[in-house]
Amino acid sequence: MLKVENLSVNYGVINAVKDVSFEINEGEIVSLIGANGAGKTTILKIISGLLKARSGSITYLGNNIQKQSAPKIVAEGISQVPEGRHIFSGLSVMENLQMGAFLTKGKQRIQDNYREVFDRFPILKERQGQDAATLSGGEQQMLAMGRALMANPKLILLDEPSMGLAPIFINEIFEIIKAINKAGTTVLLIEQNAKKALSISDRAYVVATGEIKLAGTGQELLANRDVQKVYLGG
Ligand code: ATP
Repeated sequence: MLKVENLSVNYGVINAVKDVSFEINEGEIVSLIGANGAGKTTILKIISGLLKARSGSITYLGNNIQKQSAPKIVAEGISQVPEGRHIFSGLSVMENLQMGAFLTKGKQRIQDNYREVFDRFPILKERQGQDAATLSGGEQQMLAMGRALMANPKLILLDEPSMGLAPIFINEIFEIIKAINKAGTTVLLIEQNAKKALSISDRAYVVATGEIKLAGTGQELLANRDVQKVYLGG
């Protein structure tokens, strides 16, 4: 579904991503795990068209999307849920969801999407008129995911969805990711919570200092001694 080949990204003189290649097959949950500053967010921003790479290619459903604009990439079925949620505060829950449907065509489709999002996140239905800024962290994460789902993504990019959440919400968010995937959306997940991420992933890649150091199934990486030592707290 998505093939990233020999991707390199610079911020000025900083070489943040170095010759990175990986792929995602339709229907999978794939994770990128790694420490702060490893380059994971940069990779997501390149896929969603928010940043341009120095070199390399990104092929999505057979087309090179590297030169496409971010809105075009959303319209083609890739939505990103950014690190830190970035919900629109000052807008209601409903209005935030509406923003997610900006490029979605057809009134009926949009109505169906609201219904699906509210079925998946009943709390958002309850709070639909509430200012999004007054939601809890976990609820804001759900809103950010709901907003992305309003665009009917085939592939959803999740950047640190569990960051800053209470343990009870963390479990809930991971359950929701599994459910979204089961309903047919392919998932690329970035997580500092490597244990949780690997446990729900079909495959994963370990990113360190801008490079992919290891690849395997979620279970293989969970069992890997080096991964355990560095990313799973021994
Ligand atoms: P985190 O989990 O902390 O977000 P990450 O693995 O997602 O980490 P990136 O955010 O991709 O890492 O950052 C990779 C490297 O690029 C880091 O060294 C970071 O300081 C640097 N970097 C990121 N954004 C910029 C920017 N806009 N300008 C300059 N350097 C940047």
